Parts: sequence; structure tokens; C-alpha cells
Amino acid sequence: MNIRLNHLPTAELQRLDAAYHMHPFTDGDALAERGARIITGAQGAMLTDSEGVQMLDGMAGLWCCNIGHGRHEVADAAHAQMLQLSYYNTFFMTSHPPVIELSERLAELAPGPLNHTFYASGGSEANDTNIRLVRHYWAAKGKPEKKIIIARKNGYHGSTIGAASLGGMQAMHAQGGLPIPDIVHIDQPDWWSEGGDMDPAEFGLARARQLAEKIAELGEDKVAAFIAEPVQGAGGVIVPPDTYWPELQAICDAHDILLIADEVITGFGRTGNMFGSETYDIRPDIMTIAKGLSSGYAPIGGSILSDDVAEVINSAGDFNHGYTYSGHPMTCAVALENLRILTEEKMVENVRDNTGPYLAEKWATLADHPMVGEAKIKGFMASVALTPDKAARAPFASPKGTVGLRCRDRCFAGNLVMRHVGDRMIISPPLILTHAEIDMLIERAWRAIDETYEGLKRDGMFTAAA
Ligand SMILES: *Cc1c(COP(=O)(O)O)cnc(C)c1O
Repeated sequence: MNIRLNHLPTAELQRLDAAYHMHPFTDGDALAERGARIITGAQGAMLTDSEGVQMLDGMAGLWCCNIGHGRHEVADAAHAQMLQLSYYNTFFMTSHPPVIELSERLAELAPGPLNHTFYASGGSEANDTNIRLVRHYWAAKGKPEKKIIIARKNGYHGSTIGAASLGGMQAMHAQGGLPIPDIVHIDQPDWWSEGGDMDPAEFGLARARQLAEKIAELGEDKVAAFIAEPVQGAGGVIVPPDTYWPELQAICDAHDILLIADEVITGFGRTGNMFGSETYDIRPDIMTIAKGLSSGYAPIGGSILSDDVAEVINSAGDFNHGYTYSGHPMTCAVALENLRILTEEKMVENVRDNTGPYLAEKWATLADHPMVGEAKIKGFMASVALTPDKAARAPFASPKGTVGLRCRDRCFAGNLVMRHVGDRMIISPPLILTHAEIDMLIERAWRAIDETYEGLKRDGMFTAAA
């Protein structure tokens, strides 16, 4: 049951919102003109807006609400912890039970030697930690010149200056003088857009080998680490060819550099295993976590370090880094309760064995639509490429994102939250979707795509770029 709190009429909320609230990744004038959609409640996989309309949350909030919305056990855990110990820090040789318990739990869940967690309030902060951490690691080993981090174009690692520099988003680099020095980018494994005449397997190898080439170019003695998402999320749910990760892992093994897996999205069940590193057989030295760690019930992120990395950092004196809210007691208690629900209710296994394969089967049917090129999926994250010409894998003549935005608007109008990245449509729903909700998602997605298609034809826009 949603708690029905009284609120102002929608138009008034929209006016106040535009007047006083600065939104992330938003054109403020466009927002003021159109008004934000105001979400007032959520339960399971359904959102409720200020007009009382229910919609299916195909994005799990922002890739985070893995266990679904509105679980009272999580609220109870937050409540109890706030009464017991609302805040204490973890600086200067202090600690508290929730952070200790969560750290032990994460060591249990994370694969291999990943056993030591440094906390942040989200994924961006955690990746900023990683930049300092890997450079400090090599300095502690007597190699301070090993400080370049190799990342990927169209990767996403967050929005702070450091994390946005690791990311390879052109639109972000275009503002504020990014990237910072000593971060370089190689190409992404997006076969649909960039594969040319290669088959996906060949292309995956070629893109992975860019890492070896870049290390050779820069000199192994200058490179600290490589960072990547097992599956790019914000870049458009780019599921890499099967050849890609084995080759990358082999390159990392062959060189003395650290591998950072940014599992902020892929962690905690998203790909059908607890971590994307398990899905792709990746052996990271550091893993970035956030989002699904708390299912968005509280802001918490972190970096899980391998035994080796932790040992080097621990024996190098003070690590002069930390956040006021590193290991915040309430957020740790919330994460613990979230992980209890996720594991006890076998949500990850259910995605792997039941609902994931079901969604995959249904998602593939979207490729039957004349405007859909590839339909890609891994576990509970998926994308379709919209195209005016499937055989040629052609982009639209309109500026990139025009068609995607039109489709996103049709999704919203049809009560499905699906995002667009350029002209790719993406989903990342809560892991609790039932078969009936999956059917609803596919039906609404098909309808939105079809309405977009009809609209483009009507407006003379169903044309490929020259
Ligand atoms: C969302 C995201 C981040 C940033 O996390 P915030 O909590 O928004 O700071 C980092 N990496 C990846 C892969 C993400 O998807």
C-alpha cells in the first residue's frame, strides 16, 4: 500500500520545481516549459505519479532498485539504526557494528580475493577513491610514475571531476575542462554502431587488443590501471561480444596493471549472477559498487579491494582520503537488509534461471519490428538499436537522439519508463518482475516503438543518414 501523502496540485509542484530545483542532466528551460513528471509513490515495480497514474518502472529508478520499491523491512532497518546510532564516523580508528557486518558480508559475496571495502556515498565518489587508490598503490610499491588510467570512450563512471574523466562521455568532457590529466580512453565494444565489416567475434577481439596497444604506446611502467564496466550501462547497454572480456582479462594478466571492474550497475544480480565479473569471468583487483548495494533505499557505494591491494595500502601508512559518510551506519544497515532480501528471496537465481530467460525470449521479439536493429540483453539489462535500415545498421538522418527521445516520450505516454541513449532504447528493471509484468513491459515497449515508427513516417523522418 502506498502511503498517500497530501501534496500540492501537479502544476504548482512543477512550477516550484522549475523555480527552485536544479536537476541533474537536464535542460532547465525545457523543464520549465514542459514541467517534470512528479513521482509520488512506488511499490514493487510500479511507480505512481502526482496525477495518480501508475507506470511500470523499466529502469529500476536509475538502475538501482534491484529488490523493488517500498519494502518495509528496509525502512524498519533504517529506523532502528537511526535510533541506535544515527551517525558516527569511521575515521581515526573508530568503527561501528553495521559497517563491520556489511564489510564481512561483502567479502563473502564478492568473488575471489575481493575482501576489503572502502566506502563512499555513491559510485562517482567510489571511482574517485579508485583513482587515488591505484596511484597510491603503485607509489607505495616504489613506482610513482605508474599513474595513467586507461578507460573507454562512452563508458560511464560517474559525474564528479575524477569519475567523469574516467568516463568517456563526450558531452560531459565538453563541459568543465575534462578529462583531468593521465586518463586516456580506448574504443568501446559497440559492434552495432562501430563494427563495420567485422563479425562481432573479430570486432570484440580487435577492441580488446586496443588495451594492449595502448599499454605498449604509453609504456607499462606508466600505466596504473584499466577500468571498465562489465556491460556498459549509461552508454546504451552495450553487451560486448563474447570474445571481448576473455581477451581483456588475458591482457591485464600479461601486464603489471590493476583491473578495476565498475560494477555499479552490474553488481547485485543485474546480469543474472551476483556480479558481472562472474558472468564474464573477470578477475578484478578492485570492484566499484553502489546502486544495487542498497537498491537505492540509501546513498551508499564503495570500492572492494583484493587482498593484495588492501595489503599494500594498509602497510603504506595513512591513506589520506575519506568521506564524512564513508560507512555511514544507517546506509550500511539499509544495505545489509537489502542484501538479506536479495539473497534470502533468491532474486538473483530467479533472474538467472527463470525471469531472465523469459525476458530474453520476449525481448528478442522486439527485433521483429521494422525499426529495431539489434536487441541485446544480459540478465535484466537490455537495449534495442532503433534504425531506419536494419541491413545497413544505419543511423537516422536526424541528429542522434532525436528518434530515441521521441520513443522515450511514447513510452512515458504509455506508462512505461524506458530510457533512451542516443537512438538506443534501454531497460534495467527491478529484479522482481513477474512474467505478467514482463509481458506488460514488452507490450508497452512494442507499442511505443510502433507509435514512434508511425510518427516518423508521418513526419517524413524515417530516413537513413546519407
Ligand atoms: C551510476 C554509475 C556510477 C555513478 O554512481 P553515482 O552513485 O551516480 O555517483 C558509476 N559507475 C557506473 C557504471 C554507473 O552506472
